[in-house]
Amino acid sequence: MLGGVKPLIVIDVDGPLNPFAANPKPDNYRPFDLEVGWRRRLRIWLDPDHGDQLRQLAEETGAELAWATTWLHRANTEIGPRLGLPPLKVIEFHDETGWKYPAVARYAYERPLVWFDDDFGLHSARREEFVHKRQHLTTALVHVDPGTGISAQHLSEAREAFGGNP
Ligand SMILES: [Mg+2]
Repeated sequence: MLGGVKPLIVIDVDGPLNPFAANPKPDNYRPFDLEVGWRRRLRIWLDPDHGDQLRQLAEETGAELAWATTWLHRANTEIGPRLGLPPLKVIEFHDETGWKYPAVARYAYERPLVWFDDDFGLHSARREEFVHKRQHLTTALVHVDPGTGISAQHLSEAREAFGGNP
């Protein structure tokens, strides 16, 4: 842990954990059919190893894992258990103009941050503002292609970010 401050790792579901755009899905992903409404099912793809990989990253860096996803609390009931992740803080975002940026900024506050998402390109002005306000802090926005999901490369990017400049 860095000077008593617990770093934060923020995870999005669709894109980083569920590579919806991959065709075909890489071998390590398994399909899961989830109920998403009255007689509606949604197929998602998850890599069961992602749970261990993220927990290990958090343990090594002394960081907290948290969700920032449109799945909101369903990330803890539908996604986490399938990856072997414990219930995590859900960062709720309601600011439509700012996407997830304002809510993540509030929750991360003065902590070093690594954030896995596939949509950083949305609301580029808010993104610049977010990064600018955190320029004195480690802020790694790790873009994950929804065609690949989180890879070893993304995880080492996260390790470097926390290791390099707390
Ligand atoms: Mg996404």
